[in-house]
Amino acid sequence: MCGIVGHVGQSASVPYLLQGLTNLEYRGYDSAGVALWHNGFVIEKVVGVVAPLTTTPLPLEATLGIGHTRWATHGIANHINAHPHTSVDGRIVLVHNGTIENYKELATEYGLNDLLQSDTDTEVVASVLDRLVTKTASMTDAIQQLMQQLHGSFALVIMDATTPDTLYAVKHRSPLLIGLQDNQHVVVSDASALADSFTEFYVLEDYEYAVITASNALIYDKQGHEVKKQKFIPYQRSIDRSLGVYQHYMQKEIEEQPVVMRRLIKEWQMDEQLQTHIKEAVRIVIIASGTSYHAGLVGKHLLEAMLQKPVDVLLGSEFAYFPPIQVDHSLYLFLSQSGETMDSIRALERLQASNAVTISLTNAEHSTLARLTNYHVYLHAGVEVAVASTKAYTAQIAVLALLANAVSHTMNVQVELANVALAMEDVISRSAVIHDIVRSSMNDQRSSFFIGRGVDYALA
Ligand code: GLU
Repeated sequence: MCGIVGHVGQSASVPYLLQGLTNLEYRGYDSAGVALWHNGFVIEKVVGVVAPLTTTPLPLEATLGIGHTRWATHGIANHINAHPHTSVDGRIVLVHNGTIENYKELATEYGLNDLLQSDTDTEVVASVLDRLVTKTASMTDAIQQLMQQLHGSFALVIMDATTPDTLYAVKHRSPLLIGLQDNQHVVVSDASALADSFTEFYVLEDYEYAVITASNALIYDKQGHEVKKQKFIPYQRSIDRSLGVYQHYMQKEIEEQPVVMRRLIKEWQMDEQLQTHIKEAVRIVIIASGTSYHAGLVGKHLLEAMLQKPVDVLLGSEFAYFPPIQVDHSLYLFLSQSGETMDSIRALERLQASNAVTISLTNAEHSTLARLTNYHVYLHAGVEVAVASTKAYTAQIAVLALLANAVSHTMNVQVELANVALAMEDVISRSAVIHDIVRSSMNDQRSSFFIGRGVDYALA
C-alpha cells in the first residue's frame, strides 16, 4: 500500500528519500513524489513507477525532504493528485497515508472549495493546517487542533516554509516510525524502507506527534506532554534484499521456506501465560484477511484436531459488521504478515473494549497488531517482498501448529518441522519438472478447478 519517507539531517536528503521510496515499492502504489527544501519547496511527482524520480534533477544540497508512494483513495492516480501536497496558501507541504472521512466538510468550513487543485482529501488537510498554524502561531498547537478536527486515518509528515530545518509528524490508525542516527532523522511508514541505513527507530502511537530536527526528535502525546520512547532495532536489517540468482522475489521467497522452518525450530519459545490461556480457552477465533485468512482456515483444522476446541475463522472486514457472539474464555488470534492489516486492527479495537485475550502472529515485531494485542508471536519469516505471500503463509501454519502443540503435546513438532523443511527442499529441487508439467497441462485451457477436502480445500 502507500508509503512515506521523510529525512532531516546535515547531509543530503535525496539519497534517503529515493532509497526509501524504492524499498517501499513492493507494497504497491500508483504514483510517487518528493518535496525538498532548497530556498523554497522543490516538488517532483511521477505517475507510475518511482524509477523516473531517480533520474530527475533534484537539489542535492537539500537536507530536509519528504517522499510518498500513493495508493489513491480520493481522486484518480494522476500528477495533480500525487503527493506531496501543498496547502492552498503555500506555507505547508505534506505527505499523507490514510483517508480523511470529513474532508468535504472541512473544505467547506475553511472556505477552500474554489481554491483546491486536486481531488484529494490530503490537500484539504494541508490547507486546514496552514490556516490553523497561521492563526495560532505555533505548529504544535496547530497539530493538536488538527488532530481533533480530522476523522479517519492518517500518517502525516509535514514541512513548514517558516521552519525549513524541521519535519513534523503525526499519526492515527496508520503506522509511522522515526529513525535516528548521527545527526539525522528519518520518518517512515515501514522500518524496512530504510532499515539498511538506520538501526534505531521510535514507534509513534495514535495521536502522538513529533517535532524533528537533524539533532533532535521530540515526541508528544495528544495533550502535548513530552513522551520518552524506547528505541528498537529492526530485525529486517539482517535480511538480504538482493535477488541473487533468482528471477523475482516470489521465487526467492518460495525457496527460503525450508530456512524459515529451521529458523522456527531454533527460535521457538512459548510464553507460559499464553500457554495457560490456550489451555483454558473454550473457543478460539482466528481473524485475518487475504492469504493469512487462508492460513487461518488450515490452522482451524490443525488447532481443532490438536486441541479439541472449536475454532472459528473470520475475515477482518466482516468482523465490524458481523462480530462473533462473545463467549467467556475465548481467545482471539490475529494473523497478519505485516501486522498492519487495517480490517484486523479495526476488529482488534472493538475487542479491546471487552477485555478479550488477544494474540497476534505477525512477521513484524513492532507492527500495530503486535503492539496492541496481549501476546505477540513472531513468524521469523524475514521480509517478504513479493505481494503474493509464500514463506509467511507457511510460517503462519507452522506457528499455529507450534502454539497448539505447546498445549496438546500431540506430536514432536520439532521433528515434524524438520521433515517439512526436507519435503520443501525436495519439491523445490524438482521445480523445473513441476514447472514443465504445469505449463504443458494448463496451456490452452480455459478454466482450472482446484479440488480438495479439509485442509486441502483451504489450500485449493
Ligand atoms: N487519501 C490520500 C489520497 O488519496 C492518501 C492515499 C494513500 O494512503 O496513499 O491521496
